[in-house]
Amino acid sequence: MKILVTGGLGYIGSHFAVCAIQASKEIVIVDSLENSSLKVLDAIESITGTRPVFYQGKVQDRELMTQVFNAHSFDSVVHFAGYKAVGESTKEPLMYYQNNVAGSAVLMDMMKEYGVNKLVFSSSATVYGVPEFVPYTESHRIAPFNVYGHSKAMTEVMMQGLCEAQPDWSAIALRYFNPVGAHESGDLGEDPKGIPNNLMPFITKVAVGELAELGVFGDDYDTVDGTGVRDYLHVMDLAEGHLKALSWLDANKGFKAVNLGTGNGMSVLQMVESFERVNGVKVPYSIKPRRDGDLPAFWADASLAKELFDWQANRTLDDMMRDSWHWQSRHPRGYQS
Ligand code: NAD
Ligand code: UDP
Repeated sequence: MKILVTGGLGYIGSHFAVCAIQASKEIVIVDSLENSSLKVLDAIESITGTRPVFYQGKVQDRELMTQVFNAHSFDSVVHFAGYKAVGESTKEPLMYYQNNVAGSAVLMDMMKEYGVNKLVFSSSATVYGVPEFVPYTESHRIAPFNVYGHSKAMTEVMMQGLCEAQPDWSAIALRYFNPVGAHESGDLGEDPKGIPNNLMPFITKVAVGELAELGVFGDDYDTVDGTGVRDYLHVMDLAEGHLKALSWLDANKGFKAVNLGTGNGMSVLQMVESFERVNGVKVPYSIKPRRDGDLPAFWADASLAKELFDWQANRTLDDMMRDSWHWQSRHPRGYQS
């Protein structure tokens, strides 16, 4: 029952790797190391006692992937590998389509060639675009407004088409909301290169003294306190959702897109306040202009995941705050320390 995990040394993939190994699954990781480090492999090994087989390279590299598929008999694939910076995607659209869409096409082609027909894919709530209603349900119209979102929506369309053409296939696109937090050991976490784009790593880097203050992007939205609202979920809950999705694939055929979120929205200032309260650490901030392309507020209707494969987010906001800080304070410079 081997699982191929692409992007398995990245933030979410590495947490999944730990969950999968602890659930007695055998995994093989392919990762280009473009946004991760070999130190993550050491961390996975120190937490689980198992060092997964690892191949460095890109999923669109057919020569490498042929070698991987020849060496292992896979039951399923969990596909995390991809670029994820929205701003960069707008500047380098072809790079994003090449990596995220063409990469997924090559991966699915390899799976087809080798008779591997179960796929879980990392999609995103970004596919919905400007909300017609919140919480987003899976039947909300798909209308991404940036290249990154299009790359996810296009991959979903490919998956759906393939499942329609190949009745023995089953595939799930998991539409993540905002993953935060870290493994409870404090030795696996989010380690963005340079200045973080996302809120949570920005908060922890201010808390650890690497950055002076948080800029809060806008306080005049129509929300509880004027700041942006998102659905933050613990990365370990998210990782566990993939195991549940894999079980669904074992028993069902066809394509599904499924939200993974808590169902609750939190504002930027609520996040800052809970971080300070839980950890007893101050996070200086100042209000800045709105960030281009930001949506005011969205969160998940997470009922389909519960209904289909009995998943729900169990960890609390306090858990997310505590574990994010545990990781960052134990590793002030991420995997470099
Ligand atoms: P990450 O950058 O930490 O992990 C992605 C990993 O994939 C990295 O280790 C990178 O080196 C590798 N990679 C990138 N392109 C590759 C390729 N073509 N072949 C092989 N390896 C490649 O990102 P993450 O936060 O762990 O996200 C994982 C997936 O989840 C991504 O597809 C991302 O778009 C999606 N996602 C993330 C979020 C989020 O907030 N983190 C939200 C929604 C969806
Ligand atoms: N945000 C902020 N300052 C930052 C980063 C993010 O105020 O330095 C806000 C952002 O405007 C949004 C929320 O935090 O309202 C979540 O942003 P993030 O980039 O983490 O997630 P996304 O917007 O992609 O859902």
